[in-house]
Amino acid sequence: MRVELLTVGDELLLGDTVNGNAAWLGRRLADHGVEVTRSVVVGDETDVIVEAVTSALGRADAVITTGGLGPTYDDLTRDALAKAAGVALVRDPALERRLRERSAASGRGLQPMAMRMAEVPEGAGLLHNSAGTAPGLRVELPGGVAYALPGVPFEMRTIMDEVVLPELAGIAGLPAVARRTLRTAGLWESVVATRLAEVEAMDGIRLAYLPDPAEVKIRITAAGPDAPGRLATAGTRVRELLGPAVYGTDDETLDRVVHRLLAERGAGVAVAESLTGGLIGAELTAMPGSSATYAGGIVSYATELKARLLGVPEDLLAEHGAVHPDVAAAMAAGVRDRLGAAYGLSVTGVAGPEPQDGRPVGTVYIGLAGPGNLRTVAEPRLPVPGSGPEIRAVIRRMTVVHALDLLRR
Ligand code: ATP
Ligand code: MG
Repeated sequence: MRVELLTVGDELLLGDTVNGNAAWLGRRLADHGVEVTRSVVVGDETDVIVEAVTSALGRADAVITTGGLGPTYDDLTRDALAKAAGVALVRDPALERRLRERSAASGRGLQPMAMRMAEVPEGAGLLHNSAGTAPGLRVELPGGVAYALPGVPFEMRTIMDEVVLPELAGIAGLPAVARRTLRTAGLWESVVATRLAEVEAMDGIRLAYLPDPAEVKIRITAAGPDAPGRLATAGTRVRELLGPAVYGTDDETLDRVVHRLLAERGAGVAVAESLTGGLIGAELTAMPGSSATYAGGIVSYATELKARLLGVPEDLLAEHGAVHPDVAAAMAAGVRDRLGAAYGLSVTGVAGPEPQDGRPVGTVYIGLAGPGNLRTVAEPRLPVPGSGPEIRAVIRRMTVVHALDLLRR
């Protein structure tokens, strides 16, 4: 079973609206083992929609459209589907009754334009919309079936889950699919993929790599008989091959894992930040209840503040500058002691785009001071992402991830 997507709307072409519907549909269909072979965006123009639907069904078994089902004159999907099917638009009595009831209940008169929503291509099926008034449409065309869904994301998703997906699964006789995402930090995508070659070769297993700065998510999909069993086997092997780089599954983000581990140890953390300017604190306060394990932080951006607020020895700063492993270690111990937390975490480095004190962009030292004299300094070699203004954002994000990852281990 092959499906194509057609998202409709001038706002998508103009970039006013990000095409979240196509992203969501792609993921949802893949989750259900339906292959999406093409995704197209068109504007609000009848003939263009007709052409797009017709050519999609020349290749695929079904096309799913979103948008253009509303009452305004730029909502043209139903006109286009009628034209593609070579039928007229007819007024559906049940839809008309519902529209009249709704306008009566709201106390506003029924706008003539709204009656457009009661019109459907002759012979079309209605896809019940439990999240709104306008139903979706199912139109049988020579090459296959067109499902037309509203543009409003919440309504589109509801009809998709409640009506279209079960229908597609029935048509395709789809096998069971089981899916899990394993999250890793600190490994490069190419390293992950190389190590997992044998898992990729397993029967009925598919891997997808979703890279973020300093993180790689691995989506494992198992299909066929005993999909859950295969998934479990593959998941275990991935953990064996990647070791402690795997920090969580599915929605377990790094900050959540850090909070959980600290809570298990009955410990809190204080953070001394330089190049991240507070991003680690932001990350560690994103979750409700963070105060149980996050004490607070000091953003010591100016070199002088590293001495004054954190007690980093001035001769150390004078000799090496602010970007140095000993400075990171002193910052970590300083913030731990001054804020009275069990752990002190620190970062100092060069976010770019220009080198600093002769140190290249991406030079980052992360300090961790634990209970007692425990000290660690990590020096992740951060890959510099091309050139230009995006460097800073990526280096800073990678620093956040490496810092939380050090705390976790
Ligand atoms: P309505 O009855 O609201 O007019 P409709 O089916 O005509 O629904 P549109 O008018 O195309 O849909 O879009 C309605 C809303 O949904 C708009 O706010 C639009 O930004 C949003 N939307 C439309 N298409 C998409 C899309 N592909 N991705 C994300 N949002 C979308
Ligand atoms: Mg509309």
